[in-house]
Amino acid sequence: MTRATSLICLCVALVLSGCAKDSSDKNYKLSDKNYKLSDKNLVIAGDPKQVKTIGDQDTQFQIIAKGALDEKLSLGSLMEPTDQNLSIGIPLVSDLSGQPKNRSILDRLRRRTKPLPDDFASLQFGMPIDLVGKTMVFGGVVVKVSDRVNEDMGRLKLAELPALLVTTKIQKPSLGDPKLLVLNCGASCESQEPKKEVLGIPILAVDQVKKTVILDLSKLGDILELTAIRKNDYTLSQYKSIKSRVVTFDFSKNTLVFDVEAQLVKKSEALNQPNPKVTVVTNRWYLKLGDVFNPQFTKRKPINEVGFFTTKRNSEPWIVRYDLDRIEPQEGVKYYIKNVPPEFQKGFVSAFDEWNEKFLSITGKKIFNYEFISKDDPRSQLLVTGDVRYNIIEWDLVNRAAYGGLGPSIAHQYTGEVFSANVLVQGPHIIELFREWFQARHDSDDLIRIGRDHEADGVISKSLIALNAKLDALHLDGDNKVFKLKLGKDLELAIRSQDPSLEDPLMQRVDFDLPPVGYTFEAYMEGYFHDMVTHELGHNLGLRHNFRGNLGASDVPELGKVSRSIMEYLGRGYRYLDRIGPYDEMAIAYGYTGATPTHADWFCTDDDVSSLETPEFSAECNRDDATNDPFGFYDARLRKAVDYLVARGKANAPAWTVDDMKRELTHVFTGFGLYYVTGPLTASKWTNFLTNADRPKEPSQVAPYVFNKLKSYLCDASFEQEVTNKESTEAKKKTLDNIKGLMAQAKEVFKDLIPAAELECQ
Ligand SMILES: [Zn+2]
Ligand SMILES: [Zn+2]
Repeated sequence: MTRATSLICLCVALVLSGCAKDSSDKNYKLSDKNYKLSDKNLVIAGDPKQVKTIGDQDTQFQIIAKGALDEKLSLGSLMEPTDQNLSIGIPLVSDLSGQPKNRSILDRLRRRTKPLPDDFASLQFGMPIDLVGKTMVFGGVVVKVSDRVNEDMGRLKLAELPALLVTTKIQKPSLGDPKLLVLNCGASCESQEPKKEVLGIPILAVDQVKKTVILDLSKLGDILELTAIRKNDYTLSQYKSIKSRVVTFDFSKNTLVFDVEAQLVKKSEALNQPNPKVTVVTNRWYLKLGDVFNPQFTKRKPINEVGFFTTKRNSEPWIVRYDLDRIEPQEGVKYYIKNVPPEFQKGFVSAFDEWNEKFLSITGKKIFNYEFISKDDPRSQLLVTGDVRYNIIEWDLVNRAAYGGLGPSIAHQYTGEVFSANVLVQGPHIIELFREWFQARHDSDDLIRIGRDHEADGVISKSLIALNAKLDALHLDGDNKVFKLKLGKDLELAIRSQDPSLEDPLMQRVDFDLPPVGYTFEAYMEGYFHDMVTHELGHNLGLRHNFRGNLGASDVPELGKVSRSIMEYLGRGYRYLDRIGPYDEMAIAYGYTGATPTHADWFCTDDDVSSLETPEFSAECNRDDATNDPFGFYDARLRKAVDYLVARGKANAPAWTVDDMKRELTHVFTGFGLYYVTGPLTASKWTNFLTNADRPKEPSQVAPYVFNKLKSYLCDASFEQEVTNKESTEAKKKTLDNIKGLMAQAKEVFKDLIPAAELECQ
C-alpha cells in the first residue's frame, strides 16, 4: 500500500467511525460549519436480527429488524399492543381495559408475510411514547427509482410530499387494529380547527421498559399509488404497490429520516401476468422534531414586480426563501456538490461565487458555501439528494431524464422558510449532446481546411439533423405522459420535473447554429454550466422564471449582457454568456430585505407566456425569444432559414430540406404569429417593438405589418433567380421543393389565423 492510499484509508476510517466529537446540532444554523457528516446513527437493512438505538441526548429511537421483532414478541420481551397486561399508561392501554383481546399481531404478521429473507431484514421503528401528541414536521422526497434508463420514470426523482405540520394520537382499539394516527394540524397546531387524519401507521408492539411503540412504517410504501396518463388519448395506467419495506434510518439535526422502498407494478399486469415488471420507488421520509424553524422568520407577500415561488398549504400564500438570520455572515448555506468531473467544476464554482458576490452587496451576507464530493468519497453514500437535512447538487450518474436541470427547494408550507434545496443536473447526457454539436463544427472546419468548402454545408446539416432527431425523440418520450403520485387517497406528491416552472431544458431549441466562433468545447461548457447552475440556484433561492429577461439585452451579445435575468431561457447562442442581471438583484433585494422594486415591467413568468390561442397575453412574454428586439430576432431567423433552403448565391443543391428544419420553422412562424395575434390587445404595452424605425406605431397596424413581412419571405422575388442559378436539374428541383415546403409550413402554423389563399403568392 502506498503512503497516499494509507492516508486516504485513515481519513475514511475517521469520517465513518463516528468518533468525531458530537457537536450539538440543536438549533443548527443553515451554515453548519461544525457539522460533521457521520454514519453513527445510520441503520441499513441487512441483518434480520439487528437492533440499534439511534438519536441524540434528548430523543432516542429503537430500530428493530423484523426478524428480531418476531423473536422478541415470541419471547415476551416485547408486548403486543392489545395485550391486557400492558401497564405503561399510554392512552391505548387505558382505553383497552375490558376490551376483548384482538387476534394476535404475531399471527397476523406471520400470515401476512411469505417468509422471504429480505422481509425479516425490513426495519421497524420504535418511537418514544413521549413523542405521541407532539407537533412535528412530516414530508418526503423520492430519492431513487429503479427504472433508470427510461426517461419516463426517471423523472419521478425528487417528487415531493410538501411538508405537513402534524401531530399524532394512538387510535382506540375498539375502532380497529391499534394504529398511530398522524393528524394534520391545518394552518397551525395551536389553532382550534379540526385536525384531519392523514395516515394510520400500524402498531406492531410495545416496549414497556424503553417506553416505545414499535411502528410498521412500510405502510407508507403500501399506500403509494402511481398513475400514468398518456396525453394524446388520456389512457390511464395505474400502478400499485405489491410489497414494501423500510431499508434505512438515520438521525441528525433534529431530523429523523427513513427510506421506504415500494415495489410498484401495473395493476393490469399484476392480475394477468405471472411476472409483472417491477419498478422500485424509494422515498426518503422525514420527521423534524421540536423547534427546527425560526419563530421570528419574516413572512413576505408575493408582489407583481418580481417572481418568487409561494407556499401552497395556507390560504394566504407567502414567498419561499431562505432565512438569512440562520446564516452566519461569512459562512452561507452549505451545499454539497456530488459527482461533477473536475474538468466541468469551473462553471459550478463561478455560479456560487457570483451569487455570493451579489448577496454580499445586497444583504451584507454571503449566501452559499460549497464543497465538491467526488463519486469515490465515502461521504458520498451519506449524501442522498432529496434528504432534507442537506442541500445537494447532483451530477446525476444514475437516472436519465428529459430535462437538463431541476432546482426544487423544500419550504415550510406555512411561512415559506426554505429548509432544504437540491439541484439535479443531467451532466453525462448534456456532455454527450454538446460534444456532438461541437463535432459538427470540427468536421466542417476540417473540410474547409483542405479546400472542400462546398462539402462542408452538407456535413454540418447532416450532423445537426442527426442531433435534432435525438432531441425530438427525447421530447416525444418525455412529453407524452403525465404522472400522478399519491400517498393514500388525499396526499399528492408534487412531481417537480413535470412542473414547467422548474423543469429546465437540456438544450434549447434545435436550430442550425454552430458553436460560437472562438470558443472551445471546454470554454463553452464552462459558460453553459455557469448559466445552468446559477439559474437552478436561483430557483433554490425562491426565484421563478423571468421571460422578459432578454428585453434588457445589449445590442450585440456580450458576456453578462444577453438578459437582465439569469431566470430567462436563452438559446444555445446566448446562454453561455448569461449572468445574474439587474432584475435578479431587484428580486433578491425584495425577497431578502423587503426593498421595494424600482421597475414594474421587467418580469413575466410561466403563467404569462403568450401563445397563438391567447391574444390577451403579450407577445413579449416568451420562453423562446432572444435579444432586445424579439421580433427582429425572429425576422433574422427566418431570413437565415430561407437562405439555407434555397442555398442562396450557390450553384449546388441546398443541404437542408424543409423537413430537416421543421422545428426551427415552426418556432419562427409561431414567433411571427404571436405578434400577429396579440398585437391588437397588447401592443400598447410592448416595450421593445418600436425600437426599430420601420415598425408601425398603432396597435391596429401590427397584424398587417407582420403579414406583409411574412409574405415578403414566402414570396421572395429573388426565388426565381436562385432556381435558375442552380447547376443541375436535381438542384433546381430540390430548391423548388423547398420553396413550396416553406409555404406549406407557414400555412400549417397560421391555419387558424390566416386563410391559406391569402398567403399564396400572386
Ligand atoms: Zn428554470
Ligand atoms: Zn424571453
